[in-house]
Amino acid sequence: MLKHITVLISSGAIALGTIYTHAVGAEAKFGPSNPFYAPSTLPFHVPPYDKIKDEDYQPAIEAGMAEELSEMQGIADNPAAPTFDNTLVAMERTGQLLQRTMAAFRGVTGANTNPVLQKVRTEEAPRLAAHQDAIYLNAKLFARVATIYQQRASLKLDPESLRLLEITYDSFVRAGANLSEADKTELKKLNEEISTRSNAFSIKLLAATKDAAFATTDRNALAGLSDAQIAAAAQAAQSRKQEGYVLPLQNTTQQPDLGLLGVRASREALFGKSWNRAERSDANDTRDDIAHLAQLRARRAQLLGYANHAAWKLGDQMAKTPEAALKFMDALVPGATAKATSEGKDIQDLIDAQKGGFSLQPWDWDFYAQQVRKAKYDLNEAEVKPYFELNNVLENGVFYAANQLYGITFKERKDLPVYQPDVRVFEVSDVDGKPLALFYCDYFKRDNKDGGAWMGSFVRQSKLLSTLPVVYNVANLPKPAAGEPALISFTDVTTMFHEFGHALNGMFANTEYPSMSGTATARDFVEFPSQFNEHWALSPAVFSHYAKHYKTGAAMPADLVAKIKKAENFNQGYKLTELVAAAELDMQWHTLPASAPLQQPDAFEKQALEKMNVQLDAVPPRYRSSYFSHIWSSGYSAGYYAYLWSEMLDDDAYAWFEEHGGLTRANGDRFRQMVLSRGNTEDLAKMYAAWRGKDPSVEPMMKYRGLIESAH
Ligand SMILES: [Zn+2]
Repeated sequence: MLKHITVLISSGAIALGTIYTHAVGAEAKFGPSNPFYAPSTLPFHVPPYDKIKDEDYQPAIEAGMAEELSEMQGIADNPAAPTFDNTLVAMERTGQLLQRTMAAFRGVTGANTNPVLQKVRTEEAPRLAAHQDAIYLNAKLFARVATIYQQRASLKLDPESLRLLEITYDSFVRAGANLSEADKTELKKLNEEISTRSNAFSIKLLAATKDAAFATTDRNALAGLSDAQIAAAAQAAQSRKQEGYVLPLQNTTQQPDLGLLGVRASREALFGKSWNRAERSDANDTRDDIAHLAQLRARRAQLLGYANHAAWKLGDQMAKTPEAALKFMDALVPGATAKATSEGKDIQDLIDAQKGGFSLQPWDWDFYAQQVRKAKYDLNEAEVKPYFELNNVLENGVFYAANQLYGITFKERKDLPVYQPDVRVFEVSDVDGKPLALFYCDYFKRDNKDGGAWMGSFVRQSKLLSTLPVVYNVANLPKPAAGEPALISFTDVTTMFHEFGHALNGMFANTEYPSMSGTATARDFVEFPSQFNEHWALSPAVFSHYAKHYKTGAAMPADLVAKIKKAENFNQGYKLTELVAAAELDMQWHTLPASAPLQQPDAFEKQALEKMNVQLDAVPPRYRSSYFSHIWSSGYSAGYYAYLWSEMLDDDAYAWFEEHGGLTRANGDRFRQMVLSRGNTEDLAKMYAAWRGKDPSVEPMMKYRGLIESAH
């Protein structure tokens, strides 16, 4: 994943000329003794973590927002006629203090937080959101941007500058800058209502999910779980002051324990708890909120001049329109559902062979699929891990693939300050030996680190600001005991390649303007370079270079390699169908016009799935509408398709490499030059097609998921 896609319209690192004194609260404490006061003097302007104290962040963030607002106001108030330089370029230079502070702050709060930093994060989040609004709703500033935008045809701007102008103008318009004062008031009211409803949804869903946990006093009902899992269930009950055992719910429809529970009645009950968690006609029922959210969003879209919410959201995405996203999903449906149906048949055969005497239901799927997996693809993690020693995977796998493709080299630096001793820093040199970037990696799990894995930037590349990129990868891989090797799973290997793909997108950035640099692309594009880079993990030339036994150096036996490859295709019909069903639901809710009546969520959901042909009784959507928090409260509304869209791109791109000789410098250089270095400086669909020679197609994706035989 890529954390914190920055939407601030400014970034970078440049000298701080003025001290802003219109202080409120914490700003008063901001002065030259604060390590963020001036740009970092360390190589590449890296954060001086050896000097930064927890209490330095908040005053610097506050001062940074004040400085940026003041700089923006200065541009808005400029008596000179608006020009591209005195407005657009000037805006790109604003906010340096806020940028360098937030980059260091995000890095440390994500990976090495503490109660002091958590408190700052909670306090500053709404202020940062309001700060953003204050810039976009500055009418004088927008008037200057709009004037330049109207003159764009006669300005003879280079393509990157023209793109900056279009994107900046569009961002203002999409935020409502073009509306009349009366409509702006209406917009503000709608935004508040949406925010209130969305917040109510989150609070209810949290309570509903907690309440809906599966509880039993009968230990036998949990047959199939390990002793440790049963002990954890007893502890979960105890912490809720309940008798017996409790299985708390995960956010998805399917629950991990459904793969293990041998008692069918327990599975059915647990599944029912999950499926109906937010539809129990009690105080935590979310259906009224989502129906209203869909309607409010449709009204807001209409006010902003769009046919529906999805049309508004997709305007700055690679897909551009809901129709394009829907067409793409429609193309996945037949292959996905056909494969899921055939997987379901295999499972039914197993049920019948065991004289089960029932027909497959969603709560049976994982339990029997696990048995099918064991019989067909038995892959023993303990057998595999000795071939994946972390440092070896990093240097002889991840770095090696990048060296073979792009010619870049890596040298560890021990002289730069880090926020925690496990963090390592590498200087990355370009083909000609010149410094290209710094790469930080922080792979081991810690209790004060967010879950999952991600990439971020300490310094974003910009020619305008004379900055080179400083990027980082963070993960949660198990830390070995002192002196022991870090042996990881193949999933973890894939994670390392994935995050490094984001890192390459950041490190190869070669753009003028910071706001369009590196990973500052679109949600349906940003996972493309990362998922693309995952492909090299299993590419024979790379795999054989890193997958070596940590003790003997022996290559992994061929049958084990074959098992890893085969296991990648397991259950893909189910997995793709549940994803497409969720993505279709999202898009159906968000293509409702403002004139549509308030929907009944259950009836709407059923109709939507039937209409899109993804209604399989044994394969429910990955999230039901009433607990689909991505789309109602996490910023992914009309955006869930983006995961699948990026997958189409990465598989289609890898197919191009396979067609052109695979892991070669020529292929790598072309990809770097035409895609990885370009950031958001070009229309993303055009950028892709120019590199690929045609628009992306879904066939390679269906092939890599094992849903069709060949891409050709
Ligand atoms: Zn990612």
